[in-house]
Amino acid sequence: MTEKYLAQPDLDFIAQVRELGGDTLKKCYQCATCSVACPIAPEDSPFPRKEMIAASWGLKDKLITSGDIWLCHHCGDCTDLCPRGAAPGDVLSAVRSAAIEDYAQPKFLAQAVNDPSKLPFILGIQAVWFAIFAFITMNAGDFMTKVFKYVPFFDWSHAHEGEHVIAQADFFSTWFVDMTFVPTAIFVVAVFFLSLKKFITDIHENAMLEGKTDKTSIDYKELFQALLRVVPIILKHQKFNECTTNKDRATPHMMVLYSFIGLFIVTSIGFVLLYIFHAPGPYSQLNPLKWLANISGVALVIGSGLMIKNRMANEEQKTAYKDWYILWVVFGLGATGMLTEMARLAHLAGISYFFYFLHLIAIWNLFLFLPFSKMAHLVYRTTAMTYAEYSNRK
Ligand code: SF4
Ligand code: SF4
Repeated sequence: MTEKYLAQPDLDFIAQVRELGGDTLKKCYQCATCSVACPIAPEDSPFPRKEMIAASWGLKDKLITSGDIWLCHHCGDCTDLCPRGAAPGDVLSAVRSAAIEDYAQPKFLAQAVNDPSKLPFILGIQAVWFAIFAFITMNAGDFMTKVFKYVPFFDWSHAHEGEHVIAQADFFSTWFVDMTFVPTAIFVVAVFFLSLKKFITDIHENAMLEGKTDKTSIDYKELFQALLRVVPIILKHQKFNECTTNKDRATPHMMVLYSFIGLFIVTSIGFVLLYIFHAPGPYSQLNPLKWLANISGVALVIGSGLMIKNRMANEEQKTAYKDWYILWVVFGLGATGMLTEMARLAHLAGISYFFYFLHLIAIWNLFLFLPFSKMAHLVYRTTAMTYAEYSNRK
């Protein structure tokens, strides 16, 4: 990688960074104000000036293999003080988007999720898929019962006469949802595993070449210990709070993070209750699981709503299509979840199913494209921060 990493300017990469929101990169005249202004850049080889130089030269391999681009939290302090209006925070954000596209495979999914012209196609496929599953759930219960009668846990013979049909509908509904999301989850974990394996190797090689570490190899046990030290920093949003310009981003960002943690706990427990303890929902409103789900849902709607509002209010900060895409998917996920719940409580079955249909599309959008969309920053940034901690890059 070394020769290419140091010397090959990539004009397509410059165009890509510009398109992803870094169209100001050529304005930089390398004064280094940004590196001095950045409150979280390390003293040794600080960012983002060196990244601005590399970006304007189109040094793609040098940039996308750098852990430093992920240490930036896009606070905007440097952008505010840049005398040339080169918006280094936006350029780094665009470089991170390019890095996600480069690491995640298969590439066509990364390109699809970042191309607005493909959006109707993506949503159309997902809508048709869930429409088929809704049709089967509602109409083909008896047929599917015969097809699946040999599956051991597929047994509701204990149900009474009237409950029989409901049990079928609930089972098919859950079964088809899981049939969609379990393979999706396996796919996402596999994509992340492969891309992170390469990412860790690359940022380590980059750090050695640039003299940012004295470690000559990666000790995964130490790396894991570094992760344990980094997790509280992320949970407290410590780095966000060191910034000045966009400090108000920390609270909504935290709300979204914690709501995802809450919803992950709810989904995991629900899965275990259904398949191990054969205790399907819906659960009582007094159930702690329901409490956690509702609080997380409300936090998700408010947090993502505030993030959208902040983005709209901040005209100076560039917001590329992929930023808007993920923000609206997250907001849509929370909003449709809450609307489904409210319609169900109001006994509006048809409306509840409609919102649930939209909710499933939002969930699938979020999870299927997790390794390819802006959301992947959660994983890449955590890894880069962990590596920085491991390599004593303070
Ligand atoms: S991005 Fe702006 S502040 Fe940073 S080196 Fe370039 S001109 Fe100076
Ligand atoms: S956006 Fe903030 S964190 Fe990123 S380089 Fe600029 S000052 Fe540093």
